[in-house]
Amino acid sequence: MPRMDEKVETIYHDVVSRNPGETEFHQATREVLESLGPVLVKHPEFTGHKIIERICEPERQIIFRVPWRDDKGEVQINRGFRVEFNSALGPYKGGLRFHPSVYLGIVKFLGFEQIFKNALTGLPIGGGKGGSDFDPKGKSNDDIMSFCQSFMNELYRHIGQYTDVPAGDIGVGGREIGFMFGQYKRITNRWESGVLTGKGLDWGGSLVRTEATGYGAVFFVEEMLKARKDTFEGKICSVSGSGNVAIYTIEKIHQLGGKVVTCSDSNGYIYDEKGIDLQLMQQLKEVERRRIKDYVQYRKHAKYVAKGNIWEVPCQVAMPSATQNEINGSDAAKLVKNGCIAVGEGANMPTTPEGVKIFLEAQIAYGPGKAANAGGVATSALEMQQNAQRDSWTFEHTEKRLQEIMKNIHELCYETAIEYGTPGNYVNGANIAGFIRVAKAMVALGVV
Ligand code: NDP
Repeated sequence: MPRMDEKVETIYHDVVSRNPGETEFHQATREVLESLGPVLVKHPEFTGHKIIERICEPERQIIFRVPWRDDKGEVQINRGFRVEFNSALGPYKGGLRFHPSVYLGIVKFLGFEQIFKNALTGLPIGGGKGGSDFDPKGKSNDDIMSFCQSFMNELYRHIGQYTDVPAGDIGVGGREIGFMFGQYKRITNRWESGVLTGKGLDWGGSLVRTEATGYGAVFFVEEMLKARKDTFEGKICSVSGSGNVAIYTIEKIHQLGGKVVTCSDSNGYIYDEKGIDLQLMQQLKEVERRRIKDYVQYRKHAKYVAKGNIWEVPCQVAMPSATQNEINGSDAAKLVKNGCIAVGEGANMPTTPEGVKIFLEAQIAYGPGKAANAGGVATSALEMQQNAQRDSWTFEHTEKRLQEIMKNIHELCYETAIEYGTPGNYVNGANIAGFIRVAKAMVALGVV
């Protein structure tokens, strides 16, 4: 682990003891705090205002019971969360995750990351995150609707276009946002499009929102490659996951001339040396909601590796797009040894601290999630702008805006890394640039 500034180390220990057992939250704070020593030297006012201490403490944490009746008539109980972390730059903004692993520590790590990610976009959005330990896998459509409605029966009193604007994340896509928006409308009697993003195109959604996180991550890697006078053209790429982020990462890489040879889910991975057939994958995952092992029924030359390690497959560009801590130290070492020159994180915190260290030491182009996957939330903010103006932009216009935003985020991280004496280190660049934007606003707003 890199050495932490002494003052910051004390704050970190306090975070750990005040939030026992929340290991992912500890990991996410540590990773940001490690970059901040030099910032306090340049900005002593942040120390006086206790900005780091305040930023590590969520403004509000809501935990609630979600009772619902399944399609067999049985009552089920889940736990719901919304952590409203920081609203210095705008209303809380961040997705909802439905996955059995969700607990407060996961929601807080995601919410904490979201503060800095949202700041990097330059758009007026604060940071928050939420979700539930509900497992949507294998559930009927009626079960999903019943759960979403019950979840919204509590959440509605905490959200609003000027307060908190949730979106999707793992297990929450267009269908779930639709059920939640419907219930919000019913309870409040308000057609308030700005209350959720990721909406359907017929009822207030934005073109490109579905594609945005994946496309944005690829644009970010494209910029990192450009800074090294390289491109995606002809590159063998490895993508993990087979959900929203993975699918549109694959699509954009193919458009830019790269070849993606893998995708995965929590049961195994696919290796298709001819390049993943995206149409087939979309049919299986988005339309029929099947598992990726079925892919090989239609592409006979492709291999399905159950429980295998996807990062053993040699690639030049790796884009982890499934979940946290999916690349550990030995995976990172394997990737580097096999000739990987760039990693762009579509997922949040997919690389463990040991893995990050290996990427940084190898000096490959490593784009951390809070910078690389900011395209999703940025396009959500564009959806909010269109809702506020009662307008809808074309696909081309919105994609162009997304691309400009990703280019700006890259430049900001790149320049900040140089300014703070660590050229090429996008981890420091992203942490420092995001932190400074939020910290300045917090100083201006006083002790609130
Ligand atoms: P989806 O639910 O659409 O897809 C998630 C994919 O990751 C699935 O293939 C899933 O497999 C796999 N996965 C999830 N959990 C695990 C696990 N514990 N182990 C192995 N595989 C797993 O989610 P998204 O594509 O939206 O999100 C993927 C990542 O991107 C997450 O880290 C999310 O936080 C991040 N992200 C998403 C944004 C968005 O706009 N959606 C924005 C920014 C970041 P299975 O079906 O087997 O569970």
